Amino acid sequence: MGPMVTIVGGGFAGSEAAWAAAQRGVRVRLFEMRPGTPTAVHRTGNLAEPVCSNSLKSNRIENASGLLKEEMRGLGSLILPCAEAHRVPAGEALAVDAEAFSREVTERIDAHPLIEVIREEVASLPSDRPLILATGPLTSEPMALALRDLVGGDCLAFFDAVAPTVTLESLDMSLVFRASRRGKGYDSDEPEEEGPPADYLNCPLDRDQYLALQQALGEAEVAEPHLAGEERAPYFDACMPVEELARRGPRTLAFGPMRPIGLRDPRTGRRPYAAVQLRQENRAGTLWGLVGFQTRLKWPDQQRIVRLIPGLQNAEIVRYGVMHRNTYVCSPHVLLPTFELLGKPDIYLAGQITGVEGYVESPASGMLAGLNAARSLSGLPGVVPPDVTVLGSLVRYLVETPAKRFAPMNANYGILPPLPERIRARLEKARRYADRAKPAYDEFVRGL
Ligand SMILES: Cc1cc2nc3c(=O)[nH]c(=O)nc-3n(C[C@H](O)[C@H](O)[C@H](O)COP(=O)(O)OP(=O)(O)OC[C@H]3O[C@@H](n4cnc5c(N)ncnc54)[C@H](O)[C@@H]3O)c2cc1C
Repeated sequence: MGPMVTIVGGGFAGSEAAWAAAQRGVRVRLFEMRPGTPTAVHRTGNLAEPVCSNSLKSNRIENASGLLKEEMRGLGSLILPCAEAHRVPAGEALAVDAEAFSREVTERIDAHPLIEVIREEVASLPSDRPLILATGPLTSEPMALALRDLVGGDCLAFFDAVAPTVTLESLDMSLVFRASRRGKGYDSDEPEEEGPPADYLNCPLDRDQYLALQQALGEAEVAEPHLAGEERAPYFDACMPVEELARRGPRTLAFGPMRPIGLRDPRTGRRPYAAVQLRQENRAGTLWGLVGFQTRLKWPDQQRIVRLIPGLQNAEIVRYGVMHRNTYVCSPHVLLPTFELLGKPDIYLAGQITGVEGYVESPASGMLAGLNAARSLSGLPGVVPPDVTVLGSLVRYLVETPAKRFAPMNANYGILPPLPERIRARLEKARRYADRAKPAYDEFVRGL
């Protein structure tokens, strides 16, 4: 057999990776275990089967997902024309007839003269190179073990417990103050010493504000688990959903993630009754996560409740809290921006296992992995889109986020380098991001 790219997993990422490589004249072998070996959520043997919602989010550039779609079209996406062909009415969202959409993806891949689809579970690491692993959030167990051996045991996660993430520019800094409990014991009430800037932003609450928040958390609606038994997942104490802590008693949060000890509100000079802490989530410092607020609450309830917190009354949430099964590697430790594994030449990862999240982000990563695997076969170096593009910034989020804070991410404007000036109007801001990204992306595509 001549040179070819081998891909494991024919979901959103694997399908787009196969297409990207084959469209560049490279032969592809794509392994997909369904329908012979099912997963807990897929129902058909179709490639790129949506597993829960049927929405690929907005097409409009007001939403970073809309701009990411434009970037994918620029690279010759397969998924997006299939989605447009089987669109169902859903306002501005690109929602699809899931069965017809995934059937068309399957038929087009089956019909491609350079792609061979093999319906077989891959249970160990193939020796073929280039190799792309795109086995998704529900990677089959033998492959998950092989992946763990490949990246190291502490670099593979099987579960997400994520707190909401907000943008720095949406915080009310007249209420929020910077300080950390660093170096302070639980009982210390001393103010911060002089030194380097503290790591945390703090939202102080008085007693009434705290009790209102605690009550709202305890009464809010929890999302249905996607997978049987997921709601009973064993939580480490540090990973208990915040709504569960709120239900345990009125003071549980004030003694837990919202303890105010070691903090002093500069506006009052006193220790607040409670405090919500925010921790920096990306290297640029534009995204901040609520410490200890991992949650299963429904998204509208998360938004309503986060905005009860002083300083967060206008918070823009770019990633909602989730707690669910998800197989993914610690990309900052193991991945290169080309989606090749660090120190493992010609092994690429794509899709949800890299820490991107969603029906658009996963195939977008697949396109880049497929493109780079094809380039490698032709002796060309790997490429990465510029950081002002959505795909480029998503890649940089994966590889540059400090490893201990790494959590999966969807496309949003908060991960792009900030604009030179602050713009409040959401639409205008999105336009500016898009105007900056488009010429840079076009130049990237022209250079391929
Ligand atoms: C329960 C659940 C609900 C979700 N709901 C949504 C949602 O509503 N919206 C959204 O945007 N995202 C959702 N996601 C995330 C979603 O999975 C991704 O957006 C997208 O499917 C990821 O693409 P992927 O290619 O990485 O994985 P997948 O699309 O899952 O593709 C991986 C493929 O690899 C195959 N495979 C696995 N192991 C092997 C093996 N050893 N050998 C051969 N083939 C293998 C699988 O059968 C599968 O076809 C959900 C995830 C889960 C688990």
